[in-house]
Amino acid sequence: MFKALNILDESDKRLRLKNKDVVFPLSDSRKKLIKRMLDELRYSQIPELSEKYDLRPGMGLAAPQLGINENFFVIVYEYDEGKFEDYVIFNPKIISHSESMVCAASGEGCLSVNRDVDGVVPRYERVTVEGFDIDGKPIKIRAREELAIAFQHEYDHLQGILFFDKIDKDDPYQTKTNIKMI
Ligand code: ZN
Repeated sequence: MFKALNILDESDKRLRLKNKDVVFPLSDSRKKLIKRMLDELRYSQIPELSEKYDLRPGMGLAAPQLGINENFFVIVYEYDEGKFEDYVIFNPKIISHSESMVCAASGEGCLSVNRDVDGVVPRYERVTVEGFDIDGKPIKIRAREELAIAFQHEYDHLQGILFFDKIDKDDPYQTKTNIKMI
C-alpha cells in the first residue's frame, strides 16, 4: 500500500539548517526511504497515479525536505514519454559547470513550496556532480538543461537554499539579460 511522504513546507526551519554528510553503509531503513522517495516522484509524474494518490508532480526531493538534515537527494527524470531515469546521490559536490546559464521558462516548482512564485531562476546550463551512490561507491554525473536545473535545485536544498531565494527581485523574469529560456 502506497503512503505519501510527509514533505515539509517552506516555513519549516529544518529546510534552512546545515546538513551533514552521510556515512556508509546505509541502514536498511534509509535504503527503504530512498525507494519510497523514488516511487513517490515517479508516481507524481504519471497522471493517473498522481491523481489517485493526490501527489503534486515533482522530479526531485532532498533529505531536508523530509526533516532529515543529511546530504543526499534523489531525482526522477522523465527523459522520454513515460520513461524515467532515477538518480540517487549522497554527499554531492558540483565540481564544474558551464559558463552559460539557462532558466526554466515556466519557473521552478518545489514540493515544499505550495504557492505560485513569480520569476525564473538562473542556473548553469551544464553541471558535473560528484558524490556517492547508495552503496557508497563514487559516482560522477553530467547533466544538462532541465536535468542540470534539477540537480542545482536539489543541491541548493542541501545548502539550505530555496529556489525563490535566487530570483532577482529587480528583474524576476530576467528580461534584462540574455539568459536562454528552456
Ligand atoms: Zn525543492
